[in-house]
Amino acid sequence: MNRRFITATHIWPMGGTLPEDPVLVFEGSRIIDIIDVEKVDVSQLEHYDGTLIPGLVNAHCHLELSYMEGKIDSGTGLTTFLTEVVTQDPVPEEIVKEAIIRADKEMQEAGIVAVGDISNRAITASVKASSPINYYTFVEMFDFLNPDRANGFYNQYELVYEAFEHAACGPVVRVPHSPYTVSNQLMSRLAQTIQPGMTGSIHMLENEQEGYLLSGAESDYPGFFELLGFGMDHYQAPHCTSMEQFMESGYQPDHMLFVHNTVADRADLGAMRRYNERKNAYLVTCPNANLYIESRLPKYDLWLESKLPICIGTDSYASNGQLSIWHEICTIQNKHPELSWKQLVEWGTVNGAIALGMQRELGSLESGKSPGLVLLEHTPDELINESILPRKII
Ligand SMILES: [Zn+2]
Repeated sequence: MNRRFITATHIWPMGGTLPEDPVLVFEGSRIIDIIDVEKVDVSQLEHYDGTLIPGLVNAHCHLELSYMEGKIDSGTGLTTFLTEVVTQDPVPEEIVKEAIIRADKEMQEAGIVAVGDISNRAITASVKASSPINYYTFVEMFDFLNPDRANGFYNQYELVYEAFEHAACGPVVRVPHSPYTVSNQLMSRLAQTIQPGMTGSIHMLENEQEGYLLSGAESDYPGFFELLGFGMDHYQAPHCTSMEQFMESGYQPDHMLFVHNTVADRADLGAMRRYNERKNAYLVTCPNANLYIESRLPKYDLWLESKLPICIGTDSYASNGQLSIWHEICTIQNKHPELSWKQLVEWGTVNGAIALGMQRELGSLESGKSPGLVLLEHTPDELINESILPRKII
């Protein structure tokens, strides 16, 4: 197989150690060695101006919502956003499928090599099966806190799960949507589906309203659920926080993605740290979606204080103008210049790969892996900046 000897002004491997003047030796998509430039015949050397990083990992996406670009108003808050999403006029399947194909290609071109994808239907299965992107599919369930409907909803989503399994499009697991949309009954059924080593996911603490609902205070959610035909007369608030509710639920996979955490405070992050003492917890941020929906970002200083690993997601085209992890990194850096580019690239590569259980192949530029290769192109004396577009090299 054809060998390529690739180097650049800088290489950020995100794992392992490098020789003084490193050259990555690729055979096809696999790194078979990392050697010093002295050992390479200069005529074979591919040199790039800029910084090489591993392929990017999108830890949270809803590929099936790719047709919703520009359809939902920005800055209205979560409940209005959700109401608009679920009350959209039906869209022909062909249009939905074309948008899925486009979004998958867009992610490939943006240097993304793996995606944790939330799925409520199986419409993305064939694209995932043929895409070079490694997909981890989270079949997401909810019953709008209606225990009587828990089994019905479970069975409905079980068909989605089976369709993904049948399509052989990578790992597929069943996950709860959020603490404010899943009854204890449905949570218990989901807990029974946990397999050793699997990664789970939940939308967590997206805004204050879920805390109000669970604590028994007034909130926007009963009105929202009623609008969808799910009365809340039966509901008895557990009088606890979202994280307390989750920790009691019994749904505890070995790896757990807590997504958004927009209003998570020290106590909430403390609960995630306790989860992390026995299992592995990851904080997933989707900054552009947070800005789109809620016009605010999470308290990253508290996230860093928790020392939990942080991953990055794009969320969906319902709340984002593009599906690019690099763009998310730029958004965070723009608002938090104290965070280094290298640290943010770590969030957007190796942390996501570990969270999705794909670190054996992806996440870092190390011998034996096929992690993809992305160039952040800049002149030798230029620093990394947000005008750079990631260029996929492998
Ligand atoms: Zn989401």
